[in-house]
Amino acid sequence: MKRLLTGLCLWLVGQAAVCAGGIEFKGVRLWAAPDHTRVVFDTSGSVTHNIFSLQNPDRLVIDVKSARVAKSLDTKQVSGGIVKGVRAAQNKKDTLRIVLDLKQAAKPQTLSLKPNDQYGHRLVIDLYDADGTGNKTVSKTASKPTSRAASQPATQTARPVQVKTAAPTQARDLVIAIDAGHGGEDPGAIGRRGTREKTVVLAIARQLAELIRKEPGMRPVLIREGDYYIGLRQRIDKARKHNADLFISIHADAFRDHRARGSSVFVLSRRGASSEMARWIAAKENAADLAGGVSLDDKDDVLAGVLLDLSQSASIAASHEVASNMLGELKRLGKTHKTSVQRAGFVVLKSPDIPSILVETAFISNPDEENKLRSKQHQAKLAKAMLSGVRDYFDNHPPPGTLRVARKHTIKSGDTLSDIAAAYQVSLNSLRGFNSLKSDTLRVGDTLRIPPLRGS
Ligand SMILES: [Zn+2]
Repeated sequence: MKRLLTGLCLWLVGQAAVCAGGIEFKGVRLWAAPDHTRVVFDTSGSVTHNIFSLQNPDRLVIDVKSARVAKSLDTKQVSGGIVKGVRAAQNKKDTLRIVLDLKQAAKPQTLSLKPNDQYGHRLVIDLYDADGTGNKTVSKTASKPTSRAASQPATQTARPVQVKTAAPTQARDLVIAIDAGHGGEDPGAIGRRGTREKTVVLAIARQLAELIRKEPGMRPVLIREGDYYIGLRQRIDKARKHNADLFISIHADAFRDHRARGSSVFVLSRRGASSEMARWIAAKENAADLAGGVSLDDKDDVLAGVLLDLSQSASIAASHEVASNMLGELKRLGKTHKTSVQRAGFVVLKSPDIPSILVETAFISNPDEENKLRSKQHQAKLAKAMLSGVRDYFDNHPPPGTLRVARKHTIKSGDTLSDIAAAYQVSLNSLRGFNSLKSDTLRVGDTLRIPPLRGS
């Protein structure tokens, strides 16, 4: 009912604005992403505009016909990314001129967004680096050199201990892509206390990344690092650029029944969702792309064909196994929403070659769970459960060539624990811990598991 009334008022305001001389510019927001800066204007209707760049100093000018500034528009505090400031003033009688003062030249891309649950009509201006090197931060991490420890053969220091299963010489870290859902213009679901999904899932994603960074032989990649929006397909692209071994999308959803509670874990389904709620949630998560303003480009679906299908079936099978492990760990935190892994058509899970899962950590629409989601301690518990799920899966399926490939040493006469540790370049303590050894006495013929080498 409330929403209906708001809609009615907007409509009235819109009409009034048209009568009083055009579209009103009512508000402005800015979101700074690593590769672009997004400026969003709230308008009373859809607009036609002209855009051009000026140099010395760099700035971008947007002329909007039949438009004017509303009293509510406050451009003073708006700066960030490559935008130094925003100005708006009446140019000719009925033309509004908006000037974005820039730190450097930029390639603009504009789009108009229709009203959604959160906002009304919007004019969006995305500013990319003019030299086309937008993704600087991404390529920097991707080209990180292999660690010295990883590239040294373990046999180097082996004197008394014969190492038959030599440590892989070029072994690499497992790469875990962690995707915090929503962001920027798209807040995701909102709890009764006003908690925003985009904020809590980023906090959980950061905690999980921290745990993975400490895990030997694993490396995290945060798909979203701050409060800005990334298109669903771009999230997949970023994971692939980093050669991710696993993609985890983290969410916290809302349902119309505020009693709904508990975590659920999803994998991709292309044959229909496993439950009514799964369908409902998938529709909402996919709609985020419209809220974020990026239209889905389905060209790759056309190119996909049968080969991709086969690869995707294998990925879905792997995803299902990771998801079961994850669900098992989440069950230790409390009753999960469903006892089995759910399937639904989430766009973000459509990597044909990377096992991908989506974790709905809790229902933000449930007041108890909203409180839990806000607590650092509970966020840490969720992150730990997810780490355990990841560990379980890769302990059983270490991809060849990674540092997590299990190594074993069969004890021969004369071997000592410290010699073995030195030979495999692991610490004595990690060797003890990894094998739950109560003493350093070894028995000939027993097998020791060798911990993975630490990445970097
Ligand atoms: Zn979500």
